[in-house]
Amino acid sequence: MKTQYMISLARLDDLTVKARQKWGDTPQKIKTVEELSELSVVLCKALNGSPGGTFEAIVDEIADVLITVNQMRHHYGEIEVDNRMEFKLDRLEQAIERKTV
Ligand SMILES: [Mg+2]
Repeated sequence: MKTQYMISLARLDDLTVKARQKWGDTPQKIKTVEELSELSVVLCKALNGSPGGTFEAIVDEIADVLITVNQMRHHYGEIEVDNRMEFKLDRLEQAIERKTV
């Protein structure tokens, strides 16, 4: 199965750089924590059956998290993060093949 991105990664990178330049890294770190928390909240609401845990709310927060986490990826180093992701994806692939976690 091949997944295609529906977004422009070049646009994401461009706006990531511009956001970091406009607001600075410390505010964007705070924003990232906020967005991660918001995603946690809507997922908990969905699991609890509470109002607000809608599909649309979850999708909205996933988008916010991906945008802000990409800013953190830029801040902490794309090569370092990508290399670590490759390592973890390899490990995940091996675990799937072993059918263990
Ligand atoms: Mg949000």
